[in-house]
Amino acid sequence: MTARTPTRARTALVIGGGIAGPVAAMALHKAGIEATVYEAYDATKRVGPSPGMTIAPNGQQALSAIDAADMVSEIGTPVTSTSLRSWTGRHLAGLTPPPDLPPTRFVWRADLHEAIDEEAARREIPIHRGKRLLDATDTGAGVTARFADGSLARADILIGADGLRSTVRPLIDPSAPTPHYGGTLTFTARVTETELPSTSGVLHQCLGKRAYMTYQIFDDGSAVWSVTLPHREPMTTAEARSVGPAAWLNRLTEAFTDDRTAATELLDSTPAPALLITGPTENMPPLGTWSRGRMTLIGDAAHATPPASGQGASLASESAVQLARCLRDLPPSKAFRAYESLRRPRVSRILKHATSTPTSTSAAARTASPKPAGPLTRALRDAVLPVATKVGAGSVWGTWQFDHRIDWDERVD
Ligand SMILES: Cc1cc2nc3c(=O)[nH]c(=O)nc-3n(C[C@H](O)[C@H](O)[C@H](O)COP(=O)(O)OP(=O)(O)OC[C@H]3O[C@@H](n4cnc5c(N)ncnc54)[C@H](O)[C@@H]3O)c2cc1C
Repeated sequence: MTARTPTRARTALVIGGGIAGPVAAMALHKAGIEATVYEAYDATKRVGPSPGMTIAPNGQQALSAIDAADMVSEIGTPVTSTSLRSWTGRHLAGLTPPPDLPPTRFVWRADLHEAIDEEAARREIPIHRGKRLLDATDTGAGVTARFADGSLARADILIGADGLRSTVRPLIDPSAPTPHYGGTLTFTARVTETELPSTSGVLHQCLGKRAYMTYQIFDDGSAVWSVTLPHREPMTTAEARSVGPAAWLNRLTEAFTDDRTAATELLDSTPAPALLITGPTENMPPLGTWSRGRMTLIGDAAHATPPASGQGASLASESAVQLARCLRDLPPSKAFRAYESLRRPRVSRILKHATSTPTSTSAAARTASPKPAGPLTRALRDAVLPVATKVGAGSVWGTWQFDHRIDWDERVD
């Protein structure tokens, strides 16, 4: 008797209708695999962790590999450059992305989700809402998922795109680590009117004395800002929200009171109901494995990055596309192995960069660490950063992250 050759997956259950899930479903569809997305929330209840976000050039290139880059380019405002500033308002360093790549784009999350939903509908990809996965059984020949409403669904494979607090992760590895409190709380707001001048496409990152703020002011006078505030005691999002937006706005104003940036004016222009208390930053240790049997993970469920890296959604899109290529060319177990070996080195390098170089993310992380920099460290940092970014601009800013292209047509062996 000859052993049966394992066959390629023809159907997939994709758990999570955030970013990674629908992008994976679109990529699988292009690969000839029938994918269905199951999202816990119904459409009306869906809220992202922040009102706006940036999509890096590499994320747009991943979408481009599956002919979906228009989803972002049609709704996004180009971020022409990034300006890193000290608490005194002094420009310390700037980053202009390479001209041969698409610019980073700022998008409102609600617009992005709408664009994703429309594109999925156009490709006839079903997204079922109000379907919270409870558990899943791998039978060896397929996977059966069980949802909170009592329904079941079955397919050849299951992909967990269910975010930082993934339900699929412990089904794959019961001993997988869980996210832990990162020592800071995050807040953000979309402000409809300010008296401040437009930043003309420049994203400002301010290393304040006691907290970190990024903001962009648009030509129409509206603005978006995000703050990372050190907070020693762990707090859940629910606990932080119970403090109330007015009290937090006062706390934030206090934190920026000595800074000579636009922070306090932006906070003054923010009505309390516009404040979104986005909760604690959470650190996610690397996972030992992303896959087991017929189940695998993508996006934040597999490799969450710090919010300030601006890479979470882009890495999620890259992983979704690479996973689909692997499943197009290989049976599930080999495909999952190939997918992990393609993705792990890049994900680890970006995570390492996000926490170890002196710009953006790590500067944010340090400024907004539970123990913010003292006067001496601040002075040293403000003196060294302009030189370091001039001498080794590319490596310090990590521009290599942006130039990552996926060749969809190349076969995966
Ligand atoms: C404050 C903040 C700011 C950020 N800013 C940026 C930025 O500027 N740029 C950037 O690239 N990234 C940013 N990120 C990171 C980015 O939001 C994530 O990396 C990205 O959303 C990951 O996409 P995902 O699809 O993997 O997860 P998510 O977007 O979290 O989607 C997961 C989905 O799964 C659903 N789900 C969860 N459990 C279940 C279940 N049991 N059954 C069914 N469905 C389930 C959830 O409802 C959700 O819709 C930021 C993050 C935060 C917190």
